[in-house]
Amino acid sequence: MTHDISNEFSIQTRLLHHKHKTDPSSGAVSVAIQPASTFHQEGLDDFGEFDYARSGNPTRQALEETFAELENGTAAYAFASGMAAISTTFMLLSAGDHLVITDDVYGGTFRFTTEVLTRLGIEHTFVDMTNVDEVKNAIRPNTKMIHMETPSNPTMKITPIRELVSLAKEHNCLTVLDNTFMTPVLQRPLDLGVDVVVHSATKFIGGHSDVVAGLAVVKDPELASRLKFLQNSFGAILGPNDCWLILRGMKTLHTRMEASMKSAEMIAQWLTEQSAVKYVYYPGLKGHPGYEINESQSDGPGAVLSFELADREAVKKVVDAVEIPVFAVSLGAVESILSYPAKMSHAAMPPDERAKRGITDGLLRLSVGLEKPEDLISDFKRAFETLVE
Ligand SMILES: *Cc1c(COP(=O)(O)O)cnc(C)c1O
Repeated sequence: MTHDISNEFSIQTRLLHHKHKTDPSSGAVSVAIQPASTFHQEGLDDFGEFDYARSGNPTRQALEETFAELENGTAAYAFASGMAAISTTFMLLSAGDHLVITDDVYGGTFRFTTEVLTRLGIEHTFVDMTNVDEVKNAIRPNTKMIHMETPSNPTMKITPIRELVSLAKEHNCLTVLDNTFMTPVLQRPLDLGVDVVVHSATKFIGGHSDVVAGLAVVKDPELASRLKFLQNSFGAILGPNDCWLILRGMKTLHTRMEASMKSAEMIAQWLTEQSAVKYVYYPGLKGHPGYEINESQSDGPGAVLSFELADREAVKKVVDAVEIPVFAVSLGAVESILSYPAKMSHAAMPPDERAKRGITDGLLRLSVGLEKPEDLISDFKRAFETLVE
């Protein structure tokens, strides 16, 4: 892969000015959508760069090359969903291997680990990754991968990335980090030594609640060729139209993240001052246990926060009363999204397991969008007033 984006420019500029900003054949200021499934070859001894679209497609290549640059990697691979990126990355493991994984991992990753990897003879141990000793104690001779997610969902726990990377290197195992909540705008784990960064591009990267996609990024060329082989073998590639949508969404990624994060900081602070709110989980608050670690390894706390109300009854009243946010699963969109982890992302988890993780019946998660933050605050203020009637 050739690179011509100057790393001297900030990510804000590089999101717009990169190798694929214009189409060399026409000068068009947009990547062309190439729907072809197969490519004509000039002759028996003259095969071109592309042969079959599962193996490679120009629109997908534009997305993959652009995204690799943003994460400071050498190669990126685009998948049909975040889960396709994550599952394919897990296929780097073999029967008999062991995986150490964060205990508040994304629900789909939890399901794949416990119900699919186990069937394939790949063992796992869930640990609290804020506690390095717990990770250390979980490592066995056959541990081949450590899977991190920071901030975690929905209680926004912060994993010390550098410490886990050095632990993994001592034990010769790969590190994988789900960077969905942060995006390369706020956190670049490859720079901290992580081996594979995975994303649900469905969230902030796409950003408009209109496409499902995933990405995996690496720095090491040998690992890149193993992942490319798995992408082609597994076949869960992202189609060209969706690649284009992601490229389009990425143009405003920096601006969206910055604006949403600024609003999230304001809303989180306001929530801490509300009597209806028992606790606010947001790594941008000074009282958050991971505040300093997050500051040391990222460029901000992101735009997702969770807060706890008294109980399910209070949640019901607030959900019924708010007018602005959509009430839905997912996050990272232009519109604010309010979700109820106990019945949505963590519905499959037994209540006692949920309680252990702080995912009570009073917990709501808010992904802050691009509305005027004062409007969101007035909306919640009015909704909280329904609790005292
Ligand atoms: C949504 C999400 C995923 C899964 O991504 P899909 O695109 O829905 O398959 C993985 N990890 C995190 C942190 C997510 O929020």
